[in-house]
Amino acid sequence: MVLSNRAQQLEPSVTLAAAAKAKELKAAGLDILSLTLGEPDFITPENIRQAAIEAITTGQASFYTPAAGMPALRQAIVERTKADYGLTYDVNQVVATDGAKFGLYALFQAIIDQDDQVIIPVPYWVSYAEQVKLAQGTPVFVEAAQSNEFKVTVAQLEAARTAKTKAVIINSPSNPTGSIYSKEELLAIGEWAVAHDIWIIADDIYGRLVYNGHEFTPIATLSEAIRQKTLIINGVSKSYSMTGWRIGYVIGDVDIIKAITSIASQATSNCSAASQYAAIEALTGDQHSVEVMRQAFEARLNTLYPQVAALPGVSLQKPQGAFYLFPNVKGTMAMCGYTDVNVFVEDLLMEAHVAVVTGAGFGAPENIRMSYATDLETLEEAVKRLAAFIDKKK
Ligand code: PLP
Repeated sequence: MVLSNRAQQLEPSVTLAAAAKAKELKAAGLDILSLTLGEPDFITPENIRQAAIEAITTGQASFYTPAAGMPALRQAIVERTKADYGLTYDVNQVVATDGAKFGLYALFQAIIDQDDQVIIPVPYWVSYAEQVKLAQGTPVFVEAAQSNEFKVTVAQLEAARTAKTKAVIINSPSNPTGSIYSKEELLAIGEWAVAHDIWIIADDIYGRLVYNGHEFTPIATLSEAIRQKTLIINGVSKSYSMTGWRIGYVIGDVDIIKAITSIASQATSNCSAASQYAAIEALTGDQHSVEVMRQAFEARLNTLYPQVAALPGVSLQKPQGAFYLFPNVKGTMAMCGYTDVNVFVEDLLMEAHVAVVTGAGFGAPENIRMSYATDLETLEEAVKRLAAFIDKKK
């Protein structure tokens, strides 16, 4: 066999695959509306682009940087975390990575031994389970039911806990559901994790994208004991519209950060120097553009939500953060004669030219994910086509 067992078992990212297919059909001349990617449609703010241009033209960005990121970037991450979380970390507790995605990958490589278990609430972001498996760990799925606003309870976590439970992932606001855990819920989960010596992997990447008065509570802020067991995952991709620059970071325990740095030093050397200069400006410069983009997402959500919720057979909880709708389409599929969400999504693409992502990749085969990180005109047209598609099939 040419491929390793690991490579054979790996599921490619369904979101990237759906986006690639939509692009391919578009290039072939079809009028495809793509609601696939978790990628803001705004270009990176001017001040951030300028910082990178300057670093390139002066030659500063020509060279390798330290594997953990330039000292100025690590300091910028410390300052941003102080401003947003009110927490003071040492620069040695911070490592910059090639996107939050590689930060997570390296984190699992750093803490997971063979057969160690990581609890993952379902629905989950597509990469968690695959990355745990790549580290030879075992994902343990816990159902975050729509009836409980897509959140898990301590009782459920306790039922899933074994002697091999090494970590639990909390992604609030969540991709794909947009749910946010309350302070009380997080405190209970944090205390449970501390009591059982379980690492909390807090994927806070959507922390600044919250809407309609809802608030993001970083779990690390809830007690000193919880903070010591928390590994924060964050980055500039979503808040600053910088998905292409590939800068994320991990914050937490010094020894784990050191191990992630060693892994990065052997795997990637460092993240792009020009991107690091851009990220310094993003994190320390004028923050106005973050709020402008947040408001645009909020307006789209408020326009789009009632339209999608009103589609026949759809059950949809209003998201509180991130930029996705995650409707349950079981009723819609039943009405239209579908039993498999992948087929439903495929037909929607080929017949109505609307690209969404199957919920199956998120562990939720009754749902589809629609990203509203695209302009309102496209979104509204997509919902119209979806309505017409359902109408035709019913
Ligand atoms: N975590 C979540 C929940 C995400 O949705 C994403 C991107 O889609 C990431 C992490 C990774 O972000 P990036 O690698 O662009 O920093």
